[in-house]
Amino acid sequence: MFKFCPACASEKINFMDGKVFRCPNCGLVYYHNTAAATGCIISVPEEAADSTSSAERILFLVRGKEPATGKLDLPGGFVDPGEGIFEGLYRELQEEIGWSPPIPDGASLADVFTLFASFSNVYPYKNIAYNTCDLYFYLRAPGLREQDLRLEQDEITAVRFLKPEDIDYNEIAFDSTRRAVQAYCMRAGAALA
Ligand SMILES: [Zn+2]
Repeated sequence: MFKFCPACASEKINFMDGKVFRCPNCGLVYYHNTAAATGCIISVPEEAADSTSSAERILFLVRGKEPATGKLDLPGGFVDPGEGIFEGLYRELQEEIGWSPPIPDGASLADVFTLFASFSNVYPYKNIAYNTCDLYFYLRAPGLREQDLRLEQDEITAVRFLKPEDIDYNEIAFDSTRRAVQAYCMRAGAALA
């Protein structure tokens, strides 16, 4: 990531243990820390579900930019400096899909988003590999429709509301997201419902 020390421009800078830069010339120590990121399963219950099909659809975004342009993703993203994990996710929903869940009187964001899985991920962006700790949440959004959403220009080209049995896992952008969707779908209809 750094060919030269960003403080003294020495070429002797070392990258150690996959996480820390140390410069023997000026003593700089810089940790390339894991970044927190979120993903959210927004589950829309089917209004007229029968016993032969799933009783829900999951909202996916179609990515409009690299990495993984055209692949399916969940809403969410990096937590910004100064944010908690719930605030970061709430902001990402507003930015990406122009929708955020209603918060009942007396409730908090922690009551709205339910954590169900977490995996590590490597997010390559413009020649830098960001190590992330991805946290996955779900929420139910009865009656949510595509026309309720306002998609972020250039970042997202479309949305899909998919039944669990119709998801093509090869079309999901990131391994951690694939694992999270699988974990959710295996539990859906049972413990999570
Ligand atoms: Zn230095």
